Amino acid sequence: MRRTIHRCVLASLPAVVLACASGAASGGAPVVPTAPAETPAPRTPRGGPALGAGGAPGLVAAPGPAAALAKLGSPWGYVLPVDHGIRADTLGKGFFRAPRSHGEHNGLDLLAPVGTAVVAPCAGQAQAGKTGGFGQWVHVVCALPATLGAGLYASLFYAHLGTLAVGRRLAPVQAGERLGTVGKTGNAAAPQIAAHVHFELIVQPSEAAALAETHSGRDQSNNPGADRFFELLGEHCLAPSGFHPRAGAIRRERRADPFLALSCLTLAKPPLTRPAGALAEAFVPWSDAYGASAFDVNLGRGHPLASALAQPAPPKAWRPPALDG
Ligand SMILES: [Zn+2]
Repeated sequence: MRRTIHRCVLASLPAVVLACASGAASGGAPVVPTAPAETPAPRTPRGGPALGAGGAPGLVAAPGPAAALAKLGSPWGYVLPVDHGIRADTLGKGFFRAPRSHGEHNGLDLLAPVGTAVVAPCAGQAQAGKTGGFGQWVHVVCALPATLGAGLYASLFYAHLGTLAVGRRLAPVQAGERLGTVGKTGNAAAPQIAAHVHFELIVQPSEAAALAETHSGRDQSNNPGADRFFELLGEHCLAPSGFHPRAGAIRRERRADPFLALSCLTLAKPPLTRPAGALAEAFVPWSDAYGASAFDVNLGRGHPLASALAQPAPPKAWRPPALDG
């Protein structure tokens, strides 16, 4: 433990500074409290097979904010075939902007067993590489749907991968295409750090800028395209669905909270499940960190039960039967 934190503190390479997965235990108030929030989302007891999906047979999603959200027109998918929530272990919390020895966490640590496939959520271009703190990484660049900013591009970054399924040379990638597998490379190697993929999402105003994005933690610049994206994300997704982080911000300059952005961009998130084995100790459900009025954040906004659970249909008013004559 001490050795890992030490390595993070000493890190001087931008990539190491950014990626440092440990160090949150070094002090500072937690960014995301676990206290109940003002709008409790539907929850089922921990340990169930699919949190939030328990017991609601026969409910049918009603048209409403969730239906309006579908009009975003995004063909994006999720980045893992399973969803085991957020990492939080003795060496760090994986929330976006959680405290780090170098400042704040620039991404989100998605808890998943070593060997789990990581996939592209969108069609674009991808390339792989390896640097000290990130370990083996894959960089994906996709155009954002016009509703969230015509001409804007997302720069997606997966770190600490175990194996790579794309090469170092930039090449086209399809939505759902396998990029590699979850691993423990870079500064996620310590045994106390629960297996996860460090995932970041940055918005850039052009494809060239997105391709040139290095995800360096030293670079906390902003750009007008990112401002535009957050404006549209709020207008088309966050506001109509009452979707919010329970604490913290939705962005850090040009960086978006990956869960907020990805949930708005995709209707296909797998339902949240508690991981088995050692990872269960590091498991934090989305509902601890996010809330939404129009859907269950653990299920994702596209799940058939998500909007029905959050917005149960009111009972039909009784009306007298029509009388002939
Ligand atoms: Zn991380």
